[in-house]
Amino acid sequence: MPFDQKLKILFVSAEVAPFAKTGGLADVCGSLPGYLVAAGHDARIVMPKYRTIDCQMDYIADFPIHINARKQTCIIKKLTHGNVYFVENEHYYERYGIYGHHDDAERFAFFCRAAVEMLPYIEFQPDIIHLNDWHTGPISMILKEHYEDHPFFKNIASIFTIHNLKYQGNFHKDTLRFFNVGDYVFVPEKVEFFNSFSFIKAGICYSDIINTVSETYAKEILTSNGGEGLDGFLIRRSADLYGITNGIDYEVFNPETDTDIYKNYNAQSLDDKKLNKFRLQKDLGLPEADIPMIALISRLTDQKGLELVLDTLGELMKQNLQFVLLGTGDEYYENAFRMLHSRYKEKFGLFIGFNPVLAQRIYAGSDIFLMPSVFEPCGLGQLISLRYGTIPVVRSTGGLKDTIKDYSENPDQGNGFTFDEFSSCAMLGSIMKALDIFNTQPEKWSALVERSIKQDYSWGKSVEKYLCLYKKAINNLRANG
Ligand code: ADP
Repeated sequence: MPFDQKLKILFVSAEVAPFAKTGGLADVCGSLPGYLVAAGHDARIVMPKYRTIDCQMDYIADFPIHINARKQTCIIKKLTHGNVYFVENEHYYERYGIYGHHDDAERFAFFCRAAVEMLPYIEFQPDIIHLNDWHTGPISMILKEHYEDHPFFKNIASIFTIHNLKYQGNFHKDTLRFFNVGDYVFVPEKVEFFNSFSFIKAGICYSDIINTVSETYAKEILTSNGGEGLDGFLIRRSADLYGITNGIDYEVFNPETDTDIYKNYNAQSLDDKKLNKFRLQKDLGLPEADIPMIALISRLTDQKGLELVLDTLGELMKQNLQFVLLGTGDEYYENAFRMLHSRYKEKFGLFIGFNPVLAQRIYAGSDIFLMPSVFEPCGLGQLISLRYGTIPVVRSTGGLKDTIKDYSENPDQGNGFTFDEFSSCAMLGSIMKALDIFNTQPEKWSALVERSIKQDYSWGKSVEKYLCLYKKAINNLRANG
């Protein structure tokens, strides 16, 4: 298929920014389709209509889905001004919280079926369905097991993007019946994983192409260290497995126009970035001073290397700096940081919760952004912080390794500070290098900040790569069909 052909693409995701977000998955699914549209393609999105979504939308269609011995009505609505479809069903989605419900297997099975079964009703016959993470994995199974010879569906190719292999959607074997497929797929070569039905395995097994969100992570998941028990299964499909580094939306994340931050700025007006720091300090109840501000914005889970932060915070607090943390997640981390906050109130700003506006203010008002992840499929925090001239200190793993080059080793091209070993000592060493330049060589620091703001981590290059993968997926489908 030539590239000048306009492709019809359906993105399917459990979260899409700005409608529902818990992490980077939402950012990607909220931005990549827009870049594909700008490149001349017809890219649309479908997601569940959660209770908290409140925007202008129009009724498009409704139809029944028989699932778990019940007839459920699936209502499809569409954003009045945009290309986003919502799957509405009171029973499954009219609740608070995207994940973590007792019936998530059934909720996302319903979503998978709705995303496929809605297509004739909305009169959209995509060339490719782009699946994202475990919640959508079984869609390619549905296409292959039910619709391989169906005139409407048989030419629809699928690509499965793994944003995080750790989250797999492994549920009781009975989940199979939500999809009306026979027991014959419940084998280790297909969807069975340690006697569970695995949503992610369905995506890996049946999709025409698989990819993950950075080149390094695409290699890491083929090893026993990074494979989360699926490395062997992924190796079997390694000929169809690719890595494409995520971008961010340079319109949404733009310090020159961002209406959430205190004062807009660009690479030429760094004093205005400093004003953002002073206002942030005021809001956090910290003393206003031009001292380094280190930030961490993250889901609070083991993946993010927070043990190292807990371990070193006391040492960091001895330095002339401030630290701000915005996050929510495991109770253990929330409580541990609360305790440290009560001890270091005059230097440590803490906000436990999910707050996109505060996140932007922290990106703009900080000097250093910390990501000491155990593993990181791509990571968007470091890309957003670069865009706001906030210099990342990261552990070199996955996408962090692909996007952040160490300044001390390469002052001409470095855009941050990196460490390899997962240890408090290595992380502290890297932070100290950054602090040293900030404190003793301000011109060099400003030059580094300017360089980081000017770097391009938008979707530009990666969109072309996705178009290549779509073409490969379509070719694979034809070759195997
Ligand atoms: P992950 O997808 O593993 O959570 P990423 O770095 O890829 O990590 O993306 C995280 C995204 O979620 C970023 O846009 C980050 O700013 C945002 N984010 C994380 N935690 C919070 C929070 N507590 N409040 C607001 N935004 C957050």
